[in-house]
Amino acid sequence: MKKHNFYAGPSILSEYTIRNTAAAVENFAGTGLSLLEVSHRGKEFVAVNDEARALVRELLDVPETHDVVFLSGGASMQFCMVPYNLLNRKAAYLDTGTWASKAIREARLFGEVEVVASSKDRNYSYIPKGYAVSPDAEYFHITTNNTIFGTEIHAIPETGLPLVADMSSDIFARPIDVSRYSIIYAGAQKNLAPAGVTIVIVRRDALGKVDRPLPSMLNYRTHIDNDSMFNTPPVLPIYAALQTLRWYREQGGIAAMQKKNIEKAAILYDEIDRNRLFRGTAAVEDRSLMNVCFVMNGEYADLEGAFGEYASAQGIVGIKGHRSVGGFRASIYNAMPRSSVEVLVDAMKAFENKQL
Ligand SMILES: *Cc1c(COP(=O)(O)O)cnc(C)c1O
Repeated sequence: MKKHNFYAGPSILSEYTIRNTAAAVENFAGTGLSLLEVSHRGKEFVAVNDEARALVRELLDVPETHDVVFLSGGASMQFCMVPYNLLNRKAAYLDTGTWASKAIREARLFGEVEVVASSKDRNYSYIPKGYAVSPDAEYFHITTNNTIFGTEIHAIPETGLPLVADMSSDIFARPIDVSRYSIIYAGAQKNLAPAGVTIVIVRRDALGKVDRPLPSMLNYRTHIDNDSMFNTPPVLPIYAALQTLRWYREQGGIAAMQKKNIEKAAILYDEIDRNRLFRGTAAVEDRSLMNVCFVMNGEYADLEGAFGEYASAQGIVGIKGHRSVGGFRASIYNAMPRSSVEVLVDAMKAFENKQL
């Protein structure tokens, strides 16, 4: 039976990505060697690394002021690397969920952190708005999509401060104005590639302003100056990322991905709102395009296990909600075809009919 992969991360990748990566594991670029056993400094892999960085630039329209590097350590490494490189005295953070609060905890090791607002009071089910940010903060950190709670910042706040964003679960989901950010970072395993590589987009003139000495590996400058090849990069995830980036370009680029994402999310949220068995958990205006969280509606709470089993019998995989929200979470990243979302919607309808 065809499986429909709704996992939150690592998560679905395009067939194009998986097919081409598998082929390169067998025979990389006609070398007769596996991608797993070639030098990262060989001309074939250097070409992969360069093309992948160039495609990030092209697809996100990255201005000349910014560099693109591929690092290791996941988005979680960026939680410390960002303040290490940028925070001298004070930074402002918006607390919109588990990942945002982990970023806050790390930043506190390096300076004063002003948490400008938090939605913890209602289990992070909404995005705070209308808060004030101190003008003397050195940057303002946001998490654009809250993977666990299914909320997304749809209007990037105007604070006058340089922005830093964790875009791990919505990078490439919609066009962005990179010029507004000092740093954008995103772990690959939600919308790009297998785990192991993190995309970081850095505004060069945001660097060099902190007083502390920085270890080479944790200094963005090192990676920029070495064309993202200071040490051995994660070769296989970068190769897979290149395939996904090519596929995005073939699909018509990021604006085309956004259009499909809006359509996919709409059919699923419409069903959640229509179906009497279910209700969404995120505030309607803040609903994520990528992670759709829903629970059984009040009196139907005991049907949760039964729906999970029914869905899995239809080939639906990975919709169990995160433990901090419960219920279900359907992650519908770029690579998720509309037809799989329709299978889930049909299962929700059929399950409702069975109960009546
Ligand atoms: C998954 C995720 C992370 C953590 O990524 P790692 O690569 O596991 O460190 C951080 N932030 C967001 C928004 C995420 O979705």
